[in-house]
Amino acid sequence: MRVENVAKAKCPLSVDIIQQAFTFIYIFYIIIQMKECIFCGIAAGKIQSQIIYQDDDIVAFKDLNPQAPAHILIIPIKHIESLASSSEEDCVLLGKLQLAAAKIAKELGLKDFRLVANNGKGAGQSVFHLHYHLMGGRRFMWPAG
Ligand code: 5GP
Ligand code: ZN
Repeated sequence: MRVENVAKAKCPLSVDIIQQAFTFIYIFYIIIQMKECIFCGIAAGKIQSQIIYQDDDIVAFKDLNPQAPAHILIIPIKHIESLASSSEEDCVLLGKLQLAAAKIAKELGLKDFRLVANNGKGAGQSVFHLHYHLMGGRRFMWPAG
């Protein structure tokens, strides 16, 4: 009997079990990665971004795909899915987000700017962690498209 056959005979399922375990762990890892919120990752510093403002409750960073010369995303560090899923307990935080937007606009020298929160897929929300788009540096149309 050859050496590898002796090993298989002693422990016939071991290689298969290890392979299956690795496959399971890999699939589990992919699922966790997919479920992880991008903006929570940015707030935690796990995902790289160009942060322009940060305090204990808020992070603001440049949008990856800017729609205006200045396009900043302002997010609460706390994971809230959308404006509609915020609650009474978030009222101070929501005020802070808007005040931060005004402060950042001033620091960027934006006299005129637009502040937008897309709420829900139908309104264009693609990242389900509450965020305000602060945009400026060009003329904006109204009504918004
Ligand atoms: P929403 O469509 O949800 O209102 O806006 C999500 C915004 O997040 C989009 O403008 C998109 O360009 C931006 N975005 C998506 N992923 C990332 C990322 O990993 N980093 C940065 N900086 N912006 C992102
Ligand atoms: Zn999040």
